[in-house]
Amino acid sequence: MSQTDHPEQEPQDAILKLPAEQKMQDNQPRAAIVTGAARGIGAATARRLAADGMAVAVLDLDAGSCNATVDAITAAGGRAIAVGADVSQDDQVETAVSAVAQELGPPTVLVNNAGVLRDNLLFKMSEADWDTVLSVHLRGSFLMSRSVQKHMVDQRYGRIVNLSSSSALGNRGQANYSAAKAGMQGLTKTLAIELGQFGITANAVAPGFIATDMTAATAARLGMTFEDFQARVASQVPARRIGEVDDVAHAISFLASEGARYISGQVIYVAGGPLC
Ligand code: NAP
Repeated sequence: MSQTDHPEQEPQDAILKLPAEQKMQDNQPRAAIVTGAARGIGAATARRLAADGMAVAVLDLDAGSCNATVDAITAAGGRAIAVGADVSQDDQVETAVSAVAQELGPPTVLVNNAGVLRDNLLFKMSEADWDTVLSVHLRGSFLMSRSVQKHMVDQRYGRIVNLSSSSALGNRGQANYSAAKAGMQGLTKTLAIELGQFGITANAVAPGFIATDMTAATAARLGMTFEDFQARVASQVPARRIGEVDDVAHAISFLASEGARYISGQVIYVAGGPLC
């Protein structure tokens, strides 16, 4: 089949040209948005995508909380801006995405990472705890994806990476979180089906236990020190260690790369071993 059969397709060797691979046709760096990037996995991902050559919008509830991530990227020679928005609020999402498009160019990479926990056993779980978790993870990812896809469709290019979790397979005390993270996998597959024709991929990364403030809070809720909690979990992981934020950022970097263009609708568990 000749290349003229698919005029929108780049020549094969174009994907091998590193580090220019994260540049658009006009040689501008691709703009990426990482939500919940003030700390934890989001911050590591923002730093990694910047190191990959992207201009990164570091988005979190409070723009001021993003400064450390932005400063780290800038100090390393990258480009980043801080953006404040609650991903579960449509008006804030629209304002944030417009600001990113204006400052960094059309966002064609989106990492839906923002998350919260409101763990409790079912009989003690309040409706507010249910709604908050579903709202940040699922509604937030829906709103962000809906807003950003306009730019991706215009550019005929996009990479969406959604944060699922090993808890999607079920986890005691996490009816809300487990439902949200399983929902992220369904959302991912549907985005992949709807948006594939525009050169957009959608994939999910599902971490196991990663050392962040989120898992530190879980240890506190269980009445354990974070060290004891990590040691207990590590003993059950085939890799015999808990995960680090850079382990997750690496998988996201791969899925957000240009060369991952034929991988879509997939869920990659980053858990130091298989899960069932
Ligand atoms: P984290 O350290 O708690 O960071 C989450 C970030 O999301 C925080 O900066 C938080 O801001 C922000 N955020 C919360 N609600 C938001 C909203 N409505 N709008 C914008 N930003 C919001 O969490 P993490 O451990 O890095 O986890 C990151 C993602 O990975 C989450 O989706 C989580 O479910 C998933 N995950 C984590 C693990 C793990 O073991 N850590 C495992 C599987 C999946 P504030 O600080 O202001 O609240």
